[in-house]
Amino acid sequence: MSHLGRPEGRMEKYSLKPVLPVLEKHLGKKVLFADDCLGETAVNMSAALKPGEVLLLENVRFYPEEEGKPVLPENVTDEEKKAAKAAMKVKQKEMAKKLSGYAEVYVNDAFGTAHRAHATTAVMADYFPAENKMFGFLINSELAAMDKVLNNSQRPFTAIMGGAKVSDKIMLIENLLNRVDNLIIGGGMTYTFIKAMGGKIGKSLCEEDKLDLALQLIEKAKEKKVNLYLPVDSLNADKFDNEANTSITAADAVEDGWLGLDIAEKTIEKFSSVIESSKTILWNGPMGVFEMEKFSKGTTAVAKAIAAATAKGAYSLIGGGDSVAAINKNGLADKVSYVSTGGGAMLEYMEGKKLPGITAIRGE
Ligand code: AMP
Repeated sequence: MSHLGRPEGRMEKYSLKPVLPVLEKHLGKKVLFADDCLGETAVNMSAALKPGEVLLLENVRFYPEEEGKPVLPENVTDEEKKAAKAAMKVKQKEMAKKLSGYAEVYVNDAFGTAHRAHATTAVMADYFPAENKMFGFLINSELAAMDKVLNNSQRPFTAIMGGAKVSDKIMLIENLLNRVDNLIIGGGMTYTFIKAMGGKIGKSLCEEDKLDLALQLIEKAKEKKVNLYLPVDSLNADKFDNEANTSITAADAVEDGWLGLDIAEKTIEKFSSVIESSKTILWNGPMGVFEMEKFSKGTTAVAKAIAAATAKGAYSLIGGGDSVAAINKNGLADKVSYVSTGGGAMLEYMEGKKLPGITAIRGE
């Protein structure tokens, strides 16, 4: 069972059929396909399976009860919304129960959706006894990598946080402040911190409503004796474009009308040296607008510094779509310790949250 994309109802372009030949190649055997999940075909085909045979069901997200979110018309009252949600929860359980009847053992290996309480990723586990539900190899290795970094890290432990917004990473930063020796901050979120400290950021990205929070995080880092490294210089552009004119200024002196889109040389040097003397490294989020060649240098430099530290024996965990893309773009995937396959799921686990897909099996 699996899903593909975010279909709304049955949509052929999200069919799992194209997966079949790939699956067959990997398994080295024929794979049967049921073009539904809950209808007669799926029921009959799963019942007829012989030992060693493999059956793939159609995209589980063709059914709204998989995600458990009711499809509501506009203008419904709060009462109606509540009732529809409750009814959908019942349908979600029914789906989970029906699917669980197809098999004796439940193996969940969908780490990327482990933070979702969907029928097939979490609810289904309730219908299997403890000895017949388990994680697959992927979830097991994701958990081992994250637990090693969170609970069994060698010092110094450096976390590198980047990306557009502070608001997406607040909980992670707060949790990490209890664990790391060094916290490096780069990317768009930099400028909210710089502005909060009274710097000039021009037109750079800034979350005005998070200025106080940025100051609180700086205070908390001090309290916890975490070395907080913010960029000291900034590569700026006169427009958000790869063809823009650029300038380098101190990170707290971006000219009016300009935007900081990457870290610059002095920062690269400092960040690289901190990273290269670390023994545990966690990276989530790019240092600049790395999708544009002109503003990708900082992110590339961080990726290379992590690879260099890893070569010297550090353990490095990379998560989040953009950091993973940067690692891959620079051909460094096999030069770091672990590249996570789950953006949101990894973030939530590292924040200290319980993931429905994990607790459904591990039970805590
Ligand atoms: P996130 O999804 O929060 O990890 O953010 C990733 C996005 O942040 C990428 O698409 C980057 O282009 C963007 N980004 C990184 N640095 C900056 C910056 N200085 N200004 C604007 N966007 C940025």
